[in-house]
Amino acid sequence: MKSAKFDHQRAASLDDALKALGNADGEARIMGGGQSLGPMMNLRLAQPDLLIDISRVGGLDGIEVSGDVIRVGARVTHARVEDGEVPGVTGAYMQTVASGISYRSVRNRGTIGGSVAHADPSADWPSALLALGGDVVIAGQDGERRMPLDDFQVGPFATGLGFEEILTGFELPALSDSAKCGYYKVNRKPGEFADAIGAVVIGVSPRVVCGATEAAPFRVSVAEEKLAAGATEISVADARDMIAVHEPGFDDYDLQIHAVALSRAVGRAFA
Ligand SMILES: Cc1cc2nc3c(=O)[nH]c(=O)nc-3n(C[C@H](O)[C@H](O)[C@H](O)COP(=O)(O)OP(=O)(O)OC[C@H]3O[C@@H](n4cnc5c(N)ncnc54)[C@H](O)[C@@H]3O)c2cc1C
Repeated sequence: MKSAKFDHQRAASLDDALKALGNADGEARIMGGGQSLGPMMNLRLAQPDLLIDISRVGGLDGIEVSGDVIRVGARVTHARVEDGEVPGVTGAYMQTVASGISYRSVRNRGTIGGSVAHADPSADWPSALLALGGDVVIAGQDGERRMPLDDFQVGPFATGLGFEEILTGFELPALSDSAKCGYYKVNRKPGEFADAIGAVVIGVSPRVVCGATEAAPFRVSVAEEKLAAGATEISVADARDMIAVHEPGFDDYDLQIHAVALSRAVGRAFA
């Protein structure tokens, strides 16, 4: 199947892209790497009238450290993260995540901003970045604003991004050398979308995320408290109880794979 007819506009600047979004008569979509939008358009699950291509917009593909913050532009590809361009402990954690996303040709084009804006519950970055914490940087008609990753994704394919806004990047914590990180993805074949995700980052305080549910990824507060109290492992049985508090509707299979992912992510953090 091929996509429905659409117009394509290559924005020369962020202002240009914002103006095009504001002036759009009908549905307009920002195009990042096109790795989710393209297939959705071909399946006619998305039928935008206008695609606003931000590939030539400057300032969206930088990676820079400023004090204890790492700024990562929305257009940074999974491949660049996989290749180690994000420095330090934060970068090493993100490298592990990026290398498990699909195969290299998808990683060459797919962007971190596109993935978080798309907010597919089974995707890697929404869970992995929630475990890191930090802010999403958003540009709109009224200027720039920041939103904590904790609040950004509100449901499956639903975020705090307005229709006339563009995700421009992330401000992530530059973790110290003593920080511990673990990521575990349950999937049937390497590189596939996840059936379950466990993500653990122990920086200033522990952040533990359960992802690839049918909703937005969520923090598992009881697990965080246990790690903050000095635990260095969480058994699958304990993880089941902790996750069940947040997801009472999980069936036995879902509970088990999410508990295994969480328990193994903790194991990797302390390996
Ligand atoms: C075969 C295949 C396998 C895959 N496997 C995985 C996997 O295992 N794990 C995983 O996490 N992902 C996987 N993906 C998805 C891939 O990671 C995509 O790159 C990613 O989800 C979307 O990024 P993108 O830059 O391509 O965004 P696009 O497809 O261009 O856009 C996706 C959505 O986000 C919006 N958008 C994009 N950029 C912005 C922005 N800057 N501001 C506002 N809105 C924006 C678009 O309007 C669109 O609605 C896979 C994709 C394919 C094709």
